[in-house]
Amino acid sequence: MSESTLRIGLVLPDVMGTYGDGGNALILRQRARMRGIDAEIVSITLDDEVPESLDVYTLGGAEDYAQRLATRHLLRHPGLQRAAEAGRPVLAICAAIQVLGHWYETAAGERVSGISMLDLTTSPQDARAIGELVTAPLIEGLTRPLSGFENHRGATTLGPAARPLGRVRNGVGNGAGDRVEGAVQGSVVSTYMHGPVLARNPELADFLLAKATGAELTPLDLPQVDRLRKERLAAAR
Ligand code: GLN
Repeated sequence: MSESTLRIGLVLPDVMGTYGDGGNALILRQRARMRGIDAEIVSITLDDEVPESLDVYTLGGAEDYAQRLATRHLLRHPGLQRAAEAGRPVLAICAAIQVLGHWYETAAGERVSGISMLDLTTSPQDARAIGELVTAPLIEGLTRPLSGFENHRGATTLGPAARPLGRVRNGVGNGAGDRVEGAVQGSVVSTYMHGPVLARNPELADFLLAKATGAELTPLDLPQVDRLRKERLAAAR
């Protein structure tokens, strides 16, 4: 691996890999390589310390028990927290939003302390939110609708330091009554969207990649990606 290789951290795929969100790391690697940028995925499992010097990090969704194991590991090995403090981009999906918050309550009603990287808390809602989710982005640098598949019981309430990623057009989103979705704070972007979200939303992939590389990225013309995007947006109507 050369000095200039982009290192993409896939954090705890052994416990936070249930919904195929590891695909987000593949998308980042592929879109980097298509620009001639060397890129590698570094898998960090429960057997590993969490390195703080990777260029970008991704975390996926999980069931309540698996997400507890992940929370414990990230509290013991605070490399992710240090990386985010240093401004390295982090993408957190579904259970990972909850883990990165101050606390979350499981479906069984138990409150678990999170790692407090995001100013938010999560409690179970009455009905599980399952289905296609479409939002209008609310952060600078994103202009196109975001789409993904949501599947969660938790409802997330944002504190003042966290901003929503998007306004809900279809689906439930954070589910705390205000029709917003996801959370953005510093270099951390989090969302309830599975998909994987970066396969469906190339603009979001390049948003993270640009931050990770510090480079201006040339646009990619990929008709099959546009087709997938259109198909999934249409499925939500
Ligand atoms: N276990 C969490 C919930 O149900 C997260 C689920 C997920 O990651 N899809 O809210």
